[in-house]
Amino acid sequence: MKVLNLQCEHQHTFEGWFASEDDFQQQRDRGLLACPVCGAAHVLKMPSAPRLNLGTPREEGSRLPADAPKAPQAPAPELQARLLKAMREIVAQTEDVGERFADQARAMHQGDIAQRNIRGRASPEVAMALIEEGIDVVPLPDLPAIKETLQ
Ligand SMILES: [Zn+2]
Repeated sequence: MKVLNLQCEHQHTFEGWFASEDDFQQQRDRGLLACPVCGAAHVLKMPSAPRLNLGTPREEGSRLPADAPKAPQAPAPELQARLLKAMREIVAQTEDVGERFADQARAMHQGDIAQRNIRGRASPEVAMALIEEGIDVVPLPDLPAIKETLQ
């Protein structure tokens, strides 16, 4: 099988696959070849470029500077594990007050009850209101894996 670089009279280039160059000549002479772009039957054979590294990554990649930006990658598994561990430690050191979070946070902020680390649920609006009142609120991602290890 031979891959030939072909060009029609309108300078459209395309590839043709032939059993041999004789096969190409015969097909062209019989008018069987046509440009896939414009359908022109007048097709010329172009000097074939050497086709190296077919099916392998292009060599140009290795010429990029070492500090070239790389494609974004998914977080490494060890990073996810570290994040999960940190989250578990936060959860282990806090008391889950659930829906009473905003009330408890305000009571602590106003000195009505003793300070302690709590976590719980609050809507984004409530969390914003707490922050505006000067109460430190840190949103935690709701990771099922954290709860699984504690319950
Ligand atoms: Zn053409």
